[in-house]
Amino acid sequence: MLRSQGGVAETVRQRYPGIGINLYETMPECVNALRAGTVDALLHNSYVWSYVLQKPSYSDLTVQPSAMITMDFRAGAPDTPAGQALIGRLNRGIAEISETRRQAITLDYTSRRLYRYDFSDYLHEYWLVVVLIVLAFAAAAVFFIRKQRVTHRAHEEKLRQLVDQDPLTGVLSMEGFRKKAEELIRNHLDIPYMLSYNNIRNFKYINDSLGREAGDDLLRFWVGKARQMMTDEEAMGRITADRFAILLRMEGEEKIQREIREVVHPVRDYFTDRGKEYRVRLFSGVYLLTPEDYREIDVDRMLDCARVAERKARESHKEGFEFYNPDQWKKGEQIADICNHLPTAARNGELRVWYQPQVNYETGEITGAEALCRWNHPKMGWISPAVFIPLLEEADLIYELDSFVWGQVCRDLQRWNSQGRHHSVSVNLSRNDLRNDRDIPGQFLDMIRAYGLTPDQLRIEITETAFTEDAALLIRTTARLRELGFQVEMDDFGSGYSSLHMLKEVPVDRIKLDLHFLSGTGDPEKGRIIVSHIIRMVHSLGMKMIAEGVETASQADFLRTHGCFEMQGFHFYKPMPVDEFETIDSHQD
Ligand code: C2E
Ligand code: MG
Ligand code: MG
Repeated sequence: MLRSQGGVAETVRQRYPGIGINLYETMPECVNALRAGTVDALLHNSYVWSYVLQKPSYSDLTVQPSAMITMDFRAGAPDTPAGQALIGRLNRGIAEISETRRQAITLDYTSRRLYRYDFSDYLHEYWLVVVLIVLAFAAAAVFFIRKQRVTHRAHEEKLRQLVDQDPLTGVLSMEGFRKKAEELIRNHLDIPYMLSYNNIRNFKYINDSLGREAGDDLLRFWVGKARQMMTDEEAMGRITADRFAILLRMEGEEKIQREIREVVHPVRDYFTDRGKEYRVRLFSGVYLLTPEDYREIDVDRMLDCARVAERKARESHKEGFEFYNPDQWKKGEQIADICNHLPTAARNGELRVWYQPQVNYETGEITGAEALCRWNHPKMGWISPAVFIPLLEEADLIYELDSFVWGQVCRDLQRWNSQGRHHSVSVNLSRNDLRNDRDIPGQFLDMIRAYGLTPDQLRIEITETAFTEDAALLIRTTARLRELGFQVEMDDFGSGYSSLHMLKEVPVDRIKLDLHFLSGTGDPEKGRIIVSHIIRMVHSLGMKMIAEGVETASQADFLRTHGCFEMQGFHFYKPMPVDEFETIDSHQD
């Protein structure tokens, strides 16, 4: 009960002995006690209930009417006949209506209308609307913030463009070009790039004599032409006035010729085509990016080099372009000529496998041969493996070439087998052939099965330097090759590094000693001492040995004296085409 009704509590206690009554200060406290189960029921008079039940959040409470105490309502009127008549009529009327209706009317005209909603009532009653409104507000706020952000970003982008873009021609500004060029080079490490620095001769004269407007038009024209030739992987920027930097993909002579046709000539004729007597002259300095430029990207340095070349072009008083590093250009062209041409070379019979016989100096017998690739290039003539092997290795194409060579060797061995000539041939395996996703031993096994060879007919030469790269993969591969019965040879022993360490780590059958280091500078006597000890050491380790690069009889004699009998070198035979090898081989009998 409410404390304010404490008086009634006494009466209730008397009437219901044993009842427990808690008194609370406020109605919410009463309701909380009921809801929490602290009390079983609330006891209030009808007026309080009728008032309180207006509150929407109390709508779950039910009222059990129980007449404990009743109070009369009385109406007063003047003690006149009219007043008495009125009272009489009222009493008759009241008597006509039922008790509940009477109660209801009394409540209606007393407490019920007095109830006023407070904030929590409105919340309770209209929560859905409130939630919707809050959500709507939140959505509006999010929308607004987003919009603000987008506008802000657009604004920033605009600002960035203003800084990164040249307003006159629409190409990148110096700053923008530097950033863009750096990004392109970093993201396209495989694209051979060149950077050109371009300049119009006497641009100031054009501005002064033909008008600034004409000068601006010329620049826009030039930019328009140049951009038509460019791809997304290339960039152009305006450095100052009439100086432009262009980062271009290097694509050989044809591209330069096209550039001259489609950009340089239209620019040259820009004014003459418009009826004015003036020939525009363009100068370009070209810098070809080197592998170091890709490792450490420094656009300013490259531009400096291009600028130096441009000055050279200008000073030569010839029209056109100059290279900063012409040898790089030749190399780039060579790469393009060799690497792009490899697939057709194999098909057109430009690639040949030559054989260099290996002999036993004791018996004079040919004990095998090394297969060495030769390329008769339509443009470059016979090119040496020393030229094309490193290029193909760099371009990751060496595996295609080696597979071709191995296949050819297997075909030759098969033919010799059928003629009763059982030979063993050494083939070269490049370090780039070895990759985790490539099963080289499996490939060799498939080949000997396909051509009906025995594994001892293939000796696989791996250069010593290869052993220092991915040693684990190499050791796995050599171990597997030997398991399958192939012979593994360490090529060029003595010409690289860490030879002794590799001897300990890597399981090979034969060491191929490179005699070239004997012919180098230094004390020849010391060289001979080293060779004699290497021969002993290799034999003590239980491995076989062959010496390559044997050029003189005295070298051969020396090797024989120290116990190395297998030899390969110009002193015996040079590498030769297959038919020649077959001829000398048949004369052996
Ligand atoms: P390499 O495997 O050490 O081959 C021996 C090289 O020494 C050959 O050069 C051979 O012609 C040369 N040579 C042989 N005897 C003498 C001599 O008495 N004196 C001198 N000065 N040189 C001699 P070549 O054929 O020019 O090959 C160079 C290198 O190119 C080879 O060295 C090998 O590493 C690589 N190569 C050749 N063909 C292939 C191939 O098909 N695949 C792979 N991956 N590499 C190959
Ligand atoms: Mg070799
Ligand atoms: Mg060698």
